[in-house]
Amino acid sequence: MSAQEFYAGDTSPRASWRLAVLMGANSRTYKFALGDALLDAARQGRDAVPLKDLAAAYGIAMARHLAEAPQAPHATHLGERDFLTVAEQESAATLAAGRPTEKLVAAAERSMPAMVMRKFHNLRGSDTVPHTFYELLGTGRHRTVRLSSHLLRLARSEQAALLSAELGARWSIVETSFASGVGRSLVEEGMAHDLETLKLTDKLRRRSVTGLVEATIGFQHGRCQICGEVIGPDEPIAVDHVFPFALMQRYRSVGAWCGPDLDALWNLAPAHAACNGTKSDRLPLPAELDRLAARNEAIMQSPHPLRQTLRRPLERAGAASWRHFLAAVPPS
Ligand SMILES: [Zn+2]
Repeated sequence: MSAQEFYAGDTSPRASWRLAVLMGANSRTYKFALGDALLDAARQGRDAVPLKDLAAAYGIAMARHLAEAPQAPHATHLGERDFLTVAEQESAATLAAGRPTEKLVAAAERSMPAMVMRKFHNLRGSDTVPHTFYELLGTGRHRTVRLSSHLLRLARSEQAALLSAELGARWSIVETSFASGVGRSLVEEGMAHDLETLKLTDKLRRRSVTGLVEATIGFQHGRCQICGEVIGPDEPIAVDHVFPFALMQRYRSVGAWCGPDLDALWNLAPAHAACNGTKSDRLPLPAELDRLAARNEAIMQSPHPLRQTLRRPLERAGAASWRHFLAAVPPS
C-alpha cells in the first residue's frame, strides 16, 4: 500500500493532514511543532495570523520538547542549525517565563518560511498532500500566514481532539527514535506495548513513549476497527484484539498454537468500547480483516519505529503483504 492508497480510503482534507503528519518525511520534528501551532490558531477561528504570532507558538512548542528530548543530530541546512542552536539556548528561559524569548521568536520567524513551512505538505519523494492548509503571504517583516478553510474546518471538526492527540503521539515516537541507544533499539526491534496502561513502550527502558490508541488510530482514519464508523469525541475507546487472544491461550494449553503472537501491535486496533464488548472472543469477519490489513499497510508507510514494529512479524512469517499474513493466521 502506498500513501495514495491510504488517501483513496478517505479523500478528505483530514486524510491529507494525516498524510502530512503521519507519513511525511520525519527526519526532524519541526513539522510537529508547526502542526501544533497551526491547529491551535485554527481552533481560535483565526483565518490569518501574523507570522510572528505563529513563530511564537512554534517556538514555545519546540522549547518544551527540547527540554525533554534530544533532537536528531547533524542538521544539514544552515537555517536549521541556526534555529536549533537558538532554540536550545533559549529553551530554559522560555520555559521559566512561560512564553518564548524574543530571541527565540526572531529565530523561528527567520527560519520558518524557507524551512518547515516549505516542507510541511511534502510527502517522501516529490509528492505533496492533496490539500493545502496554509499560505504564506507578504514579504519582509510583515508576513502573514493565511489558514485555509480546510484547516479551519478540521480544527473545529469532531475529530479535532484526535488529530491533536495523534500529532503528539507521532512527535513522541519520532523524538524517542532519536535518543541514542533507545533509538537504535527502537529502530531495530520496534516498540512494545502495555495493555494495562494502553501505552507503547520502548523495549530497552520499558518506558512509556506514548498512547497506543493515539499512535495508531490515525492510520485507520479515526474509525472503529469493528464497525468502520468514525469514533466520536465522547465515545469510549477500547483496543480490540482482532484475532481474540483467547484463541492463542486455548491452543497453548495443548501446546498446539503455531500462529504468530496475537498479543502484538499488528493484531491490536482501536474500536468503540461498545463494539468491542459485543464482539467478545469471536473471530474477525472478512470486512474486519480488510480494515486491519489496510491499517497495517498504512503504518508500514510511516517512517521510524512503528513501521519496524510491524515489519518484524511480517518478515518472520515470510508474508508478501498484510492481506497474505492475515489469511494465514490459524485456524479458519
Ligand atoms: Zn464501532
